[in-house]
Amino acid sequence: MQTLVVSLYIVSFALFIYGLMGLTGPKTAVRGNWIAAVGMGIALVATLLIPGISNWVLIGLGIVIGTLLGVPSAKKVKMTAMPQMVALFNGVGGGTVALVAWVEFRDDPGYSTHPTYFAVASLFSLIIGSVSFWGSLVAFGKLQEILPGSPIGLGRAQSALNGLLLVAAIVLAVLIVLGGTNELLIIGALLLSAVLGVMVVLPIGGADMPVVISLLNAFTGLAAAATGLALSNTAMIVAGMIVGASGSILTDQMAKAMNRSIPSIVAGGFGGSGAAVGGGDGGDRTVKATSASDAAILMAYAEQVVVVPGYGMAVAQAQHAVKDMAKLLESKGVTVKYAIHPVAGRMPGHMNVLLAEADVPYDQLKEMDDINGDFARTDVALVIGANDVTNPAARNDPSSPIHGMPILNVDEARQIIVLKRSMNSGFAGIDNPLFYDDKTSMLFGDAKKSVTEVTEELKAL
Ligand code: NDP
Repeated sequence: MQTLVVSLYIVSFALFIYGLMGLTGPKTAVRGNWIAAVGMGIALVATLLIPGISNWVLIGLGIVIGTLLGVPSAKKVKMTAMPQMVALFNGVGGGTVALVAWVEFRDDPGYSTHPTYFAVASLFSLIIGSVSFWGSLVAFGKLQEILPGSPIGLGRAQSALNGLLLVAAIVLAVLIVLGGTNELLIIGALLLSAVLGVMVVLPIGGADMPVVISLLNAFTGLAAAATGLALSNTAMIVAGMIVGASGSILTDQMAKAMNRSIPSIVAGGFGGSGAAVGGGDGGDRTVKATSASDAAILMAYAEQVVVVPGYGMAVAQAQHAVKDMAKLLESKGVTVKYAIHPVAGRMPGHMNVLLAEADVPYDQLKEMDDINGDFARTDVALVIGANDVTNPAARNDPSSPIHGMPILNVDEARQIIVLKRSMNSGFAGIDNPLFYDDKTSMLFGDAKKSVTEVTEELKAL
């Protein structure tokens, strides 16, 4: 039986890695996801075949509850709510490994009959898993707008408090490793790490949320791998390491794209400081409104139009309408390109996925560094539901809460048309001076409706 279990695990690792390779491109991503899911199914069956597994009723009940909660919510979730869904699912993984460590402690008080590495790995999972669970819940609350997206914290005292909480949790863990068997020790470590998880994520501002979700994801992977080490379960070690490694690489790449260091993100406060939060209150500055027909004329006579998509395009599901409009512009001899910011939308690659779904040619999608030099030569920048990723304050205003975040240099274009519904701010909760620029005209309304109207006007020209 042991040989069968190990063989099935090896098959599942191969499927995880093969599936992961599929996730590198939008065309193969769905298949890659299925392949990895089959791998996980095989690993699950193999685990249930391990001799000594009992409690079949409880296991069955767990599978039924998990399926009933997971499958419908994953099927129903809107594409725009995917990041909070990922945050929640990821957090549940962290919470699970923390509970496994607690159960092991209860089974064998203080892990006393186990070698030291078992206790160390279990307590590592307990602390990191609990931080990840509670941190992910706060991230979910912020993304779901149950909690304010702006930083909530104690300012400078926050880092000291977080440090104290971590040290206190580690002290309790060390007492357990040294032979402590009192259950209050492990409950204390669990509670301290729970408070730490909440305290770490609450002060993190909107603009840093993508990096934080990816960081918590990496934490969950590492905690799962440590549990695998304690339980001598190779499938958990491999799956945990894959999640931990890919999450760490993604965190590093996203932090670099945002021009931020991971310690400064964890220190919090970036994006929405309370100044000008929540309303796009431009004081006595005025904005210029335009109409679909004026926007169509401006673009029809342009040499180059750069489309700048953002979260609002995802909300409006305007990607197909955008592609139709671009085709019409191209038929009139206009060059159309798409400027893709690494954190536009609400998940990494969000814009690429939407535009790929609408069959926008891949070579028209330009990454930030490749397109930024082009804006000065662009006749019209058409901003479709993007806000934070175009905010020139990030470049020009040292007092801005998002100062230093790389942005798309939309303000360098000769004319700018912004499609959004109102003067509301974006995810970071701050005002955007681009909207008050002399070169900018606002086309107010739902992005899909506005783009469709512009297309109709273009047809009539
Ligand atoms: P923003 O959140 O900055 O702005 C989106 C804009 O879209 C809003 O100002 C909103 O204005 C407009 N909008 C919403 N619905 C519609 C609609 N139906 N039609 C037209 N406009 C609409 O988006 P960006 O893409 O510019 O920036 C992404 C932000 O999200 C960044 O701060 C990033 O850090 C953060 N983030 C990114 C994640 C990622 O991984 N990509 C994950 C989590 C957060 P109005 O209401 O007036 O219409």
